[in-house]
Formats: sequence, C-alpha cells, structure tokens
Amino acid sequence: MHQARSTVQWQAMEKAHHLAPFCHYQQLQAKGPRIIKSAKGVYLYDNDGNVILDAMAGLWCVNLGYGRQELIDAASRQMAELPYYNLFFQTATPPVIELSSQLAALAPAALNRVFFTGSGSEANDTVLRMVRHYWACLGQPQKQVFISRHNAYHGSTVAGASLGGMAPMHRQGGLPIPGIEHIAQPYWFAEGGDMAPDDFGIWAAEQLRERIDSIGPEKVAAFIAEPIQGAGGVIVPPDSYWPAVKKVLADYDILFVADEVICGFGRTGRWFGSDYYDLKPDLMPIAKGLSSGYLPIGGVMVSDKVALVLIERGGEFYHGFTYSGHPVCAAVASENLRLLDSEGWVERAGKQIGPYLQKRWRELAEHPLVGETRGVGMVAALELVKDKSARSRFDSKGSAGALCRDLCVENGLIMRAVGDTMIISPPLIFTEAHVDELISKTHRCLDLTLKALRA
Ligand SMILES: *Cc1c(COP(=O)(O)O)cnc(C)c1O
Repeated sequence: MHQARSTVQWQAMEKAHHLAPFCHYQQLQAKGPRIIKSAKGVYLYDNDGNVILDAMAGLWCVNLGYGRQELIDAASRQMAELPYYNLFFQTATPPVIELSSQLAALAPAALNRVFFTGSGSEANDTVLRMVRHYWACLGQPQKQVFISRHNAYHGSTVAGASLGGMAPMHRQGGLPIPGIEHIAQPYWFAEGGDMAPDDFGIWAAEQLRERIDSIGPEKVAAFIAEPIQGAGGVIVPPDSYWPAVKKVLADYDILFVADEVICGFGRTGRWFGSDYYDLKPDLMPIAKGLSSGYLPIGGVMVSDKVALVLIERGGEFYHGFTYSGHPVCAAVASENLRLLDSEGWVERAGKQIGPYLQKRWRELAEHPLVGETRGVGMVAALELVKDKSARSRFDSKGSAGALCRDLCVENGLIMRAVGDTMIISPPLIFTEAHVDELISKTHRCLDLTLKALRA
C-alpha cells in the first residue's frame, strides 16, 4: 500500500515522475493534479477530505457507483482461483465463457458472440482488422474503407484515433491512417445553421450516401458511429437522423458498427444505444460500463452474419491481446451485469431516474448562459453561449467551459467541459436527491461563471 502523504507531496512526486493521459503538461506542472483518494457511492473524496459529487461516473463508466462489495468480492475470489490465464491456442476459462453468454443474451438479437479486449480503443482496433478480414474472406479484399464522422470518439490507439474524428488528435502522430474517411456529424446546435433540426438530420444522413457513392460502394467496408457522440459533447442527433441513416445503410452492402462504449449498459435507459434508436449493428464495440470501470475490459460484439464467415472461411485470425478476456476482469464484468440486471438499474434509468434527471436538467435552459439543454436517459449536455437568442458562442472557444468546469470542482461537482459544452454522465444509482444536488450546484456554478465572465 502507498503511505499517507500531504497533497503537496503527492503533487511534487506526480510532477516529477508521471505523464498523465490527455494532459496539457505545462498547465499541470503549473498547478499540480487533484488527488482523488477514495470514493463511495456517487461521491469522490480528495486527499484533503473534500467531498465531490461525481456527475461523470469517472469517465462515463462507473455505472453502479463506487464501493460495491459484490464486485470487490468477485475480483478477489477470481484472483484466488485463477488470477490469469490466456485464451490463445484453443483455451478458455469459465469467467470468460460465462460473460460471453450473458452478453449474448443482453445484446440486440443478431449479436451472439464477443471478442474480448482490454479497452474500448483495442475494441475499435479489433473492429478495423476484423471487418477488413471479413470482406477478404468473402473475396472482396478491395472493400477496405471505413466511413466515420467528424468529432467522433473511438479511442486513442492508432486505429481508434484514426476512426475517431478529432482533428487535434489527428494532428499528433500523422493520423488518420489510410482508408478512413470522415463525414459531417449530426450536431445541430453547432452546425445546423438556419436549417430546422430534422432537416439538418436528414442532410447529415445524406452525407453518408454521398460519400459511399463518391468512394464507390465496392470499396466501402463499414460505417462506424456512436449512437450518441459522447466525448464530442453528448451530441444527441435530431430525431430524423438515425431513421434516415438506416435507410441509407439498407441500400448498400456495407457493415454498420455501433460504438457502444458509452451508450452501452444502461446509459440511455436501455441496455444499448442501439436498443434506444432501434439500430441493427453488425458489430458493437463495448467497454467502460461493462465492468462499471472497476477493472479494464472491453470487447466487440459480433453478429452471426460476420461471425459465421470468420468461423467458416477465415482460417486463423491473427489478432488478440495478452489480456483478452482476463479472468479477473471477466468475473467482475459478469457480476456487474448480474447486478445491473437483477437490481433493475437499466429499467430504472429508463423509466424513473433518467426522466427525472432530464426534466430537471431542462430547467437549466432558463439560465442566461445556457443556449440549449439536451440529453437521453443518464447522459446530458448544455451549451454555454454568449447570446441565447442567436445561438452565438463565445469568441475564444473553450474558455467559458474551462472556467465553469473549474468552478464546479471548487464547489464539489465533477462536470466535464468539451469546449463550451458542459456534459454529465452520472452513475445509474443516482437518486432524486442526487439529481437535485446536481441541479442546484450546476445553477450556482453557472451564476459564478456568468459573474466571472462579466468581470
Ligand atoms: C472511451 C471511448 C472509447 C475508448 O475506450 P478506452 O477504453 O478509453 O480505450 C471508444 N469509443 C467510445 C465511444 C468511447 O467513449
């Protein structure tokens, strides 16, 4: 165990020896990291004993909240029985087989198999290789191109970041890799201009058709998308978008990949975002809420259509990770799914606490700084604006968001900023009292942000 140290000591050691992920190193060196020491339920405790309401469920993942003894016990039992064994070379372990069959029962009808990875990024790397291999098995090796969307997030590995549409990520490391193209995102508030939201949704869906036609359908392998873009800013598409995309997909012989890393496991109030929007994905990357974040595990759910080609014609699939289906991670994920199901958290997110959160979140739209509120189930966003009526945003993008986020933390609330979009994704175990606390803290922090902006 680590010993107790003062926050200043922890920060000095961190600055000397740790390089954090997604971190502006100069800024961190100037002020030092927040030290989170423990957590229980929906609250974090920092090294100085401050209590913080975690409205992001860690990084969109701690769906069951912190400190569930059943998950701790599942890990320690599996640690004792079999802490590790690999699945290469025709071997399997009971926790992996158990988890695979649980996932097949929960996932949309055609998805009956799963390939395990250590993370969502690895899941999307797996998607890229599996889909291209699938088309090669069918004698169409020229079907290589993935179509994704600007401002999508599909992870941070080379394939994940390339599939993603984050321009600042592409600028570092020479991405995207060849064979990946990006089309417009269905982000009406920022990019819809004078169009009505539903007209814009149809326009955005038509971008897919136009791109498939311009590349040539015989070269397009797949379209990949998050049902609701998470890291891009909780972009809930206009109602017209997914039905129109489904029509486009039906006209072409390409695969559809629904990245469920955030939307999966109850976030939308259904088991998967694909259930919420009635999508029929051929492949479905999963991670995050799969284990409520207690241990790292991800995977790709694979439809019968794809899996049977790999099984019957694929020969050896030269792909996998040392920790694919790690038995301890699998045991914890399995227990997490059992608890989500038997205690009814997903249904509660859809029918009770989600609607309450959305109703109260919409009240924030009256604030002078807020240009739009939106959300589904247990995920939501609000747009900070300079002028409400004109949907006009701040000139130096992101500074209002960063200010608001820092004020939130100072006032005991974790809310994330994506540019000037404030986003939440709380644990599914939020009560109405937690929602009320979230709304009143958010209100107060919006007031403080407005005051600071005016000063
Ligand atoms: C977080 C995320 C990923 C990447 O998952 P990691 O476990 O961080 O590698 C991929 N896709 C989506 C939609 C995500 O939100």
